[in-house]
Amino acid sequence: MWIQRLGRALGQGRRHLHAKIVKGTSIEVQPEPESAASSMTFPGVWLRDNCRCSECFHDTSQSRRLDWDTFDTAVRPLSIRSDEAAGEVHVSWSDAHESSYTLDWLRQRSFDADRQRAYLEDFYRPATRHWAGAEFQQVAQHFDYEEVMAKDAALQQWLQALAVYGVALLRGAPLDEGVVRRLAERVGFIRRTTYGEEFVVQAKPGAQNFAYLSLPLPLHTDLPYYEYKPSVNILHCVVQTESQGGSNLLVDAFHIADRLRSDHPEDFERLCRTPVDWNDIGSEDGREFHNIWRAPAIWASTRVSTTVCPKRDSHFSVTLTKVEPWYESYSRFVRLARDDAHAFKTRPGDVLTFNNIRLLHGRTGYDDTEQNSRYIVRAYLDWGHHLLAAPETRTQTRTGSRAQTPARMQQQKQQQQPPPSSSTMARGDEI
Ligand SMILES: [Zn+2]
Repeated sequence: MWIQRLGRALGQGRRHLHAKIVKGTSIEVQPEPESAASSMTFPGVWLRDNCRCSECFHDTSQSRRLDWDTFDTAVRPLSIRSDEAAGEVHVSWSDAHESSYTLDWLRQRSFDADRQRAYLEDFYRPATRHWAGAEFQQVAQHFDYEEVMAKDAALQQWLQALAVYGVALLRGAPLDEGVVRRLAERVGFIRRTTYGEEFVVQAKPGAQNFAYLSLPLPLHTDLPYYEYKPSVNILHCVVQTESQGGSNLLVDAFHIADRLRSDHPEDFERLCRTPVDWNDIGSEDGREFHNIWRAPAIWASTRVSTTVCPKRDSHFSVTLTKVEPWYESYSRFVRLARDDAHAFKTRPGDVLTFNNIRLLHGRTGYDDTEQNSRYIVRAYLDWGHHLLAAPETRTQTRTGSRAQTPARMQQQKQQQQPPPSSSTMARGDEI
């Protein structure tokens, strides 16, 4: 048996490769004999655009050197030659240029729909799996915080779960305020917002922000008034209330949008079409801010996103006739979300991470008393940045004098004093 395998392996060294010009402008490559299914068609203009020679492509920066003033979009292949031994296709073009492409390079960029789907799910982003609230326990995976910090395989599994399900829980984190930053920097960069970088959410007497009340917090998206909203919410539970309430509420708004699209398509379309004014106008640490962004509640183009937030502007810049129907559609969407929301309570050392523009989140009310408080440290992370440095260089702490030990937390709890604040430890927006 192994001899047959060896024979096949050796046979692969003698590649079959046939290429021809089709329809005058495209190239068809046939890498296997007598199998039309394996043939791949490449538009000439795309091949010419992607010529890998040093004149057309700067290898070090991996950038095109294309001059759009002279690039001819009607460029045609004049002749073609395949080199089976080298596994390459050589093309002479109507603009007097010559290009070579390896079979492997071409195969990886095949325009075949299945291959493109596989590439997008594997190399770009995995396909999302939408879930109903009743499925929460099955989809919300748990990971060990220390393992995620130390092992790249665990880091990858956590991010994969977050990408597919929009939510994942880390357990066993230390009870200091540096956890959220260390986790964010394990992946990329912590996201700074009007409210700082890492920030604390707890009930405060005379709170000016909704988040600082111990009242129930309705389902919402954070920071909808930013054009570029943070992708991932990180919530580190340091102290949890012992009262009945204080649970997190989570719902997969993509699932709710799917249901709305199939059961009430006119509501779905209306929420996709109608721009809404979201705002946050105020001041923080003596600096005034004016954040306003107009966007529909559901955005379903290349990337679905959903926005629900009490911080909706009282300005509603749409035509008069659109107002009442929009309210009907929005209330249906919010009610569906509320009915499907799953409630659960994090424990000290838990770090809840979820996709901010996919999941809606909220909190049940709780009794905030001197002996019974709740202390959550939060930060945001963006999907756009994934660093690939060695783990040891990414786990450096910068808690310094801000470090919170469990003993210190307990002491504060007893003394009913607010935690130490600093310029990066601003008050939070919501949860
Ligand atoms: Zn070239």
